Parts: sequence; C-alpha cells; structure tokens
Amino acid sequence: MAELIIDTKKCIGCGLCIKSCAYNALSLANKKAVVDDDCVFCGSCIKSCPVEAIWIEREIVEIKDLTNYKDIWVLIEEDRDEILPVSYELLTKGRELAAEKKCDVNALILGNNIQKKFENIFEFGANKIYYFEGSEFNEKLDEVFIEYLDYVCKVYNPEIFLFGATGFGRSIAPKLAARLNTGLTADCTILSIDDNGLLKQTRPAFGGNLMATIICPNHRPQMATVRSGVMKAYKVIDKNRRKELINIEAIKLQNKKTELIERIIEEKTKSISDAEIIVSVGKGIGSQKNIEIVQKFADLLGAEIGVSRPLVDIGWAGYEKQIGQTGSVIAPKLLIALGISGAIQHLAGISGAQTIIAINTDPEASIFSVADYKVVGDCIEILKGVINKLTV
Ligand SMILES: Cc1cc2nc3c(=O)[nH]c(=O)nc-3n(C[C@H](O)[C@H](O)[C@H](O)COP(=O)(O)OP(=O)(O)OC[C@H]3O[C@@H](n4cnc5c(N)ncnc54)[C@H](O)[C@@H]3O)c2cc1C
Repeated sequence: MAELIIDTKKCIGCGLCIKSCAYNALSLANKKAVVDDDCVFCGSCIKSCPVEAIWIEREIVEIKDLTNYKDIWVLIEEDRDEILPVSYELLTKGRELAAEKKCDVNALILGNNIQKKFENIFEFGANKIYYFEGSEFNEKLDEVFIEYLDYVCKVYNPEIFLFGATGFGRSIAPKLAARLNTGLTADCTILSIDDNGLLKQTRPAFGGNLMATIICPNHRPQMATVRSGVMKAYKVIDKNRRKELINIEAIKLQNKKTELIERIIEEKTKSISDAEIIVSVGKGIGSQKNIEIVQKFADLLGAEIGVSRPLVDIGWAGYEKQIGQTGSVIAPKLLIALGISGAIQHLAGISGAQTIIAINTDPEASIFSVADYKVVGDCIEILKGVINKLTV
C-alpha cells in the first residue's frame, strides 16, 4: 500500500503539482494541495514541487523466502457455462514453462456447474485442478473472486499466476496484484523463463515501437495477463500424467460492498479471433462503399471481415472488427489483407495467421514482409475480378 503525503506546513499553494498530475488527482483547498483517490502514485508531483512538500510513503513488504512459492497457476475463465479459449491457451503455455522450471501447472476454477469441465482442463495439461463450486460466483462480482484468489495465493503460494486479458481478467488481476503487493504485466505477447528461473514477460511498449521484457524478481506470484489468440492451445497426449483434484475451502465473505442490481448480457457475436478465414481491410480500400464489395467477397469465401484501426476511427467499422495491438489478435488459417500498409501495431495482431495474402498498390508496403502471397495492384479492381470469376 502507498500513501501520497503533502506537508501542509511546507506547501506554498503554487499549484505546480496540479499541473504535473496526468490523473487530475490534485487540487487546492485553502491554498494547500490536496490529493484524492485518483492518485496512482506515479510521483510526477514530487518532481514538480519546488519546496519538497510531497512524498510517497510505501509499506515495505518483506518477502521472507521465495523458495516457498512454486508452480504455475492459470485462472480458468468461463462465459455462459463454457471455458474461454484463452484459458486453454494459457494452460498450454503454462505447460511449456513448467517443463522448463520442472514444476506443475495448476488450474483454478471458481464457479457453478464446474465438475463437467475438469476433463477438458486436464486434457490441456493441468496437473492439479483447484476448485470451489458455489453460487457466490453467479453474479461474477470482482470482490468475491478477489477474496478467493487472495486466499488461494496466501495458502498455496503460486510462483507464477496467468490470467486471460479479457474484461474480467483485466479487472481482477491488477486488484489481486495490488492486494498481494506484487507485479503484474498486462497484455504479454511472449512468456518465457530466464536463466534464474524467473518469468520473462514481454509486451509491446511505447505504442508498439519496441518490445519490453519485464521481470518480477522480489515479489510473488509473478503475474501476467495474455490476450486471447496470442498463444496456441494444444491437448496433451500423456496418459501417465499425474492428475489431482483439490477442493478448496469456502471463505466467509464479509462486508460485501457491491450489490448487483441488473446484469445485461450482451448477445454473443462471432469473434474475429475465432474465424478461420478473414478478409481484412485498411484505408487503401478508398471508400466506405467499397466495404460492400469486400462483404460480397467475404460471403463467397465464408469469411469474417476485419479492419485496421483507421477504419474504426472514421466509423466505417465497429471496434469488435479491429485487428492489432489495440484490437483483436487473430489466428485464422487464411488472412487476405486488402489495402493495409502493415504498421507494427497492426502486425502485432496477425502473427498467428497461417497463410497471408496481401494486396497493395505499394510494392514496398510493410505488409508484404509478412505475406506468403504478394499481389501488387488495386485491391478493389482485383476483388471485382475475383468475384466475377467466383460467381459465373
Ligand atoms: C498506440 C497505437 C496503437 C495502434 N493500434 C492499432 C491496431 O490495433 N490496429 C491497427 O490496424 N492499427 C493500429 N494503430 C495504427 C497504426 O499505426 C497504423 O496507422 C494503421 O494500422 C494504418 O492502417 P492502414 O494500413 O489501413 O492505413 P495506411 O497506413 O494509410 O495504409 C493504407 C495502405 O493502402 C495501400 N493502398 C492505397 N490504395 C490502395 C488500393 N487501391 N489498393 C490496394 N492498396 C492500396 C497503401 O499503399 C497503403 O499501404 C495504432 C497506432 C498506435 C499509435
């Protein structure tokens, strides 16, 4: 835990700290700076204060013995009674990391009606499944899951804990990390083990212009989230593998702060992350009207349409169609990229595609560096020709 301290005797009310705060967490009251709950303890106000009136006090947590922490854990996430693919992808990755570390991969599943899912979880590589079945998870409230996760981490001491970078995972993983006073790397694209057995957590940084590898040497668990589709999921064929089921204890939930008034369940739309054929379009298609031609082509192939970010920005497509670093990560068997330059942020979302056909008027376009088949030309003209051939 941390606290931002403002020494009101020293504060001269100059307001420089307020200007330096990117989170609007500071204001003036009675000509003295005051801080509110939006503070993220980034420390920029400390540097801006000309009279050294601000500092951060952090609780120093001493980790006694890191050797008490073991195994790689994966939180299994469900939606509408089905395990999400990202959980299987994390189990597969967990298995690979566990082979290097010579430890177990453990799955944690909290929910209702979960027993029928154990077989699948084992099939994707879990050595142990820790579970708790109860109606308290029906409302899917963060605070209930956090209590259980906190308990599990304190009792079983996981060394590494992996979460899907889903809406749910993105919400609970940071809260858990803060509770446990440990580090969390969000949206990792590569996970590996270094020479000291630490988890190397690699993710794009600075707008995708470089890859940062982050380690968490002094705190446990080492926590990471990974987006769906970034890693592959494989079943394990190993009949002799040890499999164990561990029913964890029920926790007395005290002082529940959240009351669920209504849950609005969005209609499940087909995600482009699961599509086998994708026709992706970029600014090179020229006009919104041309999307109709692309749709006709996609329908003929039984493909989904994906787009580059500018098309979402200008309102030609919804965000759910965006591919890339800040959109979906895709892994289709076939990707046909039309009028897409291949910016690094876009390429971050397509590395899982098995075969890429790119059409671009610019022979130097970066998309060609990752394409298996390169076509230099006007994508709309080419598309019209192909549609004609397919429909005669
Ligand atoms: C922090 C950050 C995150 C980002 N996240 C994403 C992301 O998730 N996804 C994403 O896509 N982008 C993302 N971007 C934007 C990214 O940097 C690029 O700007 C974007 O991908 C470019 O889209 P584009 O290729 O459609 O357009 P452009 O770069 O404008 O390229 C258009 C291409 O079409 C070609 N062309 C033109 N006319 C034709 C024609 N008639 N036929 C064929 N080809 C033609 C051109 O030669 C050109 O190569 C992000 C940027 C930042 C800073």
